[in-house]
Amino acid sequence: MTRRLTGLKPTGHLQLGNLLGAIRPLVGGQRETGSELLTAAPSPAVQGTGRGVTESVIMIVDLHALTIEHDPQRVRDLTVEHARLMLAAGVDPDVTTMYVQSHLSEHAQLHYLLECATGFGEARRMIQFKEKSTGPDPVRLSLLTYPVLMAADILLHDTEEVPVGDDQTQHLELARDVAYRFNTRYGQTFTVPRAVTPAFAARIMDLAEPTAKMGKTNAVTAGVIGLLDRPDVVRRKVMRAVTDTRNIVRRDPDRQPGVTNLLEIYVACTGDRREFASYGELKTAVADAVIAVLEPIQRRFAALTPGEVLSVLHDGAKQARPRAQATLERATEAIGLIKAA
Ligand code: AMP
Repeated sequence: MTRRLTGLKPTGHLQLGNLLGAIRPLVGGQRETGSELLTAAPSPAVQGTGRGVTESVIMIVDLHALTIEHDPQRVRDLTVEHARLMLAAGVDPDVTTMYVQSHLSEHAQLHYLLECATGFGEARRMIQFKEKSTGPDPVRLSLLTYPVLMAADILLHDTEEVPVGDDQTQHLELARDVAYRFNTRYGQTFTVPRAVTPAFAARIMDLAEPTAKMGKTNAVTAGVIGLLDRPDVVRRKVMRAVTDTRNIVRRDPDRQPGVTNLLEIYVACTGDRREFASYGELKTAVADAVIAVLEPIQRRFAALTPGEVLSVLHDGAKQARPRAQATLERATEAIGLIKAA
């Protein structure tokens, strides 16, 4: 059994990029074999044979949301919204463990132990820290140590595989280094994880600025399609998507990033690689395709009560706790602390 872990940070509303790049490959991979996991969008769940089966763990990483300026009520609301959307998008709590990071105190405890095995220079070198700490906002210490908490999240579950985008590669490398160092110094304690990239996971760009990745947002943004956007809003955003004046519908990420992005969204939503005669035809087809993908998700989202969602999260934490406790205990003893009586 291979275990893979996905974390979702409740810092903004989930958007189409999250769905096509992360959530759908994850949902499609539930109960599938490792090799099948590295293929396209959802396919029917395959009952595991016990050989090469992948188990997914999803965490809503609320502690990570505190590393930047945040509104407390908003973090709480987004935590539940993320979990509710994951369920609406097809996460099956019978096969996938989903819980809220802060519900297992083992994350914070292991974080501290790993800080004792991480160099200050190592943390300071992280590109994301460098980028985020140069802005006008005051920088929190937790922003510096955030990759170490991420390492704790991963190592706590003996995770073998972590699906990562480009932006997280360096953080995963740090988790691997820390795990390896800890094992070498204090004895075999952690599974060293590896990064995986789902082969056909789409990289969706902002519709208004197609050279930038579509990202979570808290505001109404023309270039970002929220998973809860109404059909008329989706259509308006797609029809206003930035293209170019070439009037040729073809994939050319360098010269035609907007058109290429629309084609990518179309293929990711439908699995169909048809051709289009004009930008208008392409946009109409993309709008229809996105609306068709979002409709059942929004319907299931509306039918789920917050109580049901909280109950799934509660059960998920209960399920994840024994493994987290066992890993923490191993690390605690290995690093030189005595067990509480
Ligand atoms: P984030 O929203 O940055 O916390 O990312 C959560 C997950 O969604 C990660 O696995 C990302 O790689 C994926 N993701 C986020 N935005 C996009 C995008 N525009 N295209 C594809 N995948 C994305």
